[in-house]
Amino acid sequence: MEFIDRLLTCADCGGEFIFTAGEQLFFFDKQFKNDPKRCKPCKSKRSGAAMKTGTGPAAAGLSRTETRTECSACGIETTVPFKPTQGRPVLCRQCFQSKRAPTTGALVTAAATAGMVAGVGADHNAVSAELLATAQTTQA
Ligand SMILES: [Zn+2]
Ligand SMILES: [Zn+2]
Repeated sequence: MEFIDRLLTCADCGGEFIFTAGEQLFFFDKQFKNDPKRCKPCKSKRSGAAMKTGTGPAAAGLSRTETRTECSACGIETTVPFKPTQGRPVLCRQCFQSKRAPTTGALVTAAATAGMVAGVGADHNAVSAELLATAQTTQA
């Protein structure tokens, strides 16, 4: 079986492109029934666009888990850098701070740790009540 370069018309831009003998051999090898429909620039443009829509905002660095929720104490809307456990209260930064105000011993350290965890992202103004609960359990 011999292959010679063929001139095909691109379905996208209407331009002519060469379906080379090597490519034909490749197609024959893979048992592709149809000739290529698009020239290389159009093909790469297509796959490039597909890739962009595929990855979405994650590529822009927004892949971190950010969950919108309401503070269980004051009800303001806040975002937390974790997925709140169903049924567990989530506190905004302010409520968390006021809750941990009267503190002693172990709770101070634990709450401080929780505060540090919550403070990792500068704009995360909420902290898991789960952490607070852990702190209280540690004290008791
Ligand atoms: Zn084209
Ligand atoms: Zn609150």
